[in-house]
Amino acid sequence: MSAENIKFDALVVGGGIAGLQAALDLADQDFKVAIVEKDASIGGKMIRLSKVFPTLDCASCITTPKMSAAAHHPNVTSFTYCELQTLERTGGEITARVTQKPRFVDEIKCIGCRQCEYNCPVYVPDEEQGGFAARKAIYIPFSNAIPQVALMDVLNCTLCGKCAKVCPTQAVDYFQKPRDFTLTAKTAVIATGFELTPLRDKQQYGYGEIPNVITALQMERLLAPHGPYNRVIRPSDGMEPDSIAFIQCAGSRDKSMGISYCSRVCCMYAIKQAMLLSGAVPMADIAVYYMDIRAFGKGYEQFFQNSKAMGVEFIKGKVATIDPGENGSVKLQYEAQGAQGGVKTATHDLVVLSLGMVAGWNPENICAVGTGNDAFIKTIQPKIAPTLTDMEGVFVAGVAAGPKDIVDTIVEAGAAAMEASNYLTRLTRKLAA
Ligand SMILES: Cc1cc2nc3c(=O)[nH]c(=O)nc-3n(C[C@H](O)[C@H](O)[C@H](O)COP(=O)(O)OP(=O)(O)OC[C@H]3O[C@@H](n4cnc5c(N)ncnc54)[C@H](O)[C@@H]3O)c2cc1C
Repeated sequence: MSAENIKFDALVVGGGIAGLQAALDLADQDFKVAIVEKDASIGGKMIRLSKVFPTLDCASCITTPKMSAAAHHPNVTSFTYCELQTLERTGGEITARVTQKPRFVDEIKCIGCRQCEYNCPVYVPDEEQGGFAARKAIYIPFSNAIPQVALMDVLNCTLCGKCAKVCPTQAVDYFQKPRDFTLTAKTAVIATGFELTPLRDKQQYGYGEIPNVITALQMERLLAPHGPYNRVIRPSDGMEPDSIAFIQCAGSRDKSMGISYCSRVCCMYAIKQAMLLSGAVPMADIAVYYMDIRAFGKGYEQFFQNSKAMGVEFIKGKVATIDPGENGSVKLQYEAQGAQGGVKTATHDLVVLSLGMVAGWNPENICAVGTGNDAFIKTIQPKIAPTLTDMEGVFVAGVAAGPKDIVDTIVEAGAAAMEASNYLTRLTRKLAA
């Protein structure tokens, strides 16, 4: 479908769990909704997780039906691999200028048969699997991606032409260019989520320098049933780790990194991963280095206590240095708190950085929606209407407004959809009067 000049009732920016929930709630009320997602698939971070706290439900078993419901809903149109450029309010309308990035594969012709992928001779690290597995230079991002449309990684493509030769629908298009188009809507929900705290220089926390220091999202992939190895092994040598450490507040509550806030979910996701590791690597010692444990939600304290009962060790202390040890191990120096306090050292086979969250999208110079000091979208009535932004008719949901877990994200997405629905109803009444 050509996107130019299409008018929608509501625009949802971001196709993570917040955007999907808000879009479905609006579409079920018969509003026409457009989802604009910058990745090649909808699903956001949640589709990349293993299991979710505190219930340990399979993340993709919950996310895939929502993705599928949005994809098949007659009132929802998804624009994937499309990045929002500007969002403006003119008169009673919101105009979004969007750039569709080239997939080098015709989205309409591609039938998702993966013949291009099977025949591509190029192997590169697969970012969807934390870099632990390989993908081809033309590929479908992951098995349950929506849409099931291939994309080409031109930086690694050798232009051998094998994909174009085997494609049964002649969908490969080496000459595709970025395409700009405009969407107009009466209301919008911003659901642009988060990125993990970037480690400013690669040596911070040893990430990128010490092979057995990984991020929590990489650990999610190691634990996922459809992960790279189907078991937990450390990256440097494929050894099953005997000792695993989690470092809390890595890139949160750290003024030196410009991130003074708590990212709220890192304690709980580390506890979850520690519990899952107790099952996946039963002989391993698991330690969590923490400042405070923030088990804030319903059932979360019990979840924390259960992890202790399962043998996870919690060490109250701030990790000061992370260095390479012998045989691929990682050496930590930390300042332990309490009666047995003082500067101590410990060695682990694998170290997981519980990285914090930073805003996924910065509207500065892009639209008039304001942000707070933390760069997340500002909400103007956080106590009584937490999804209201300072731009009329534009609402915010999920981590785009600040760090939160999936439960709170879903609740907020429902609230944003309700605010948007009320706004549309008021607008219709005003126009009819
Ligand atoms: C390692 C880890 C483990 C976690 N485990 C759990 C758990 O077990 N339980 C739990 O409750 N929570 C967990 N969380 C938190 C959970 O991931 C978030 O609460 C949830 O994903 C937030 O969803 P969202 O839709 O707000 O954001 P996201 O999932 O980040 O989705 C935002 C979407 O917007 C898109 N986007 C961004 N900018 C643009 C743009 N300019 N144009 C178009 N699209 C854009 C992004 O590509 C993305 O798809 C975990 C987080 C991490 C990091």
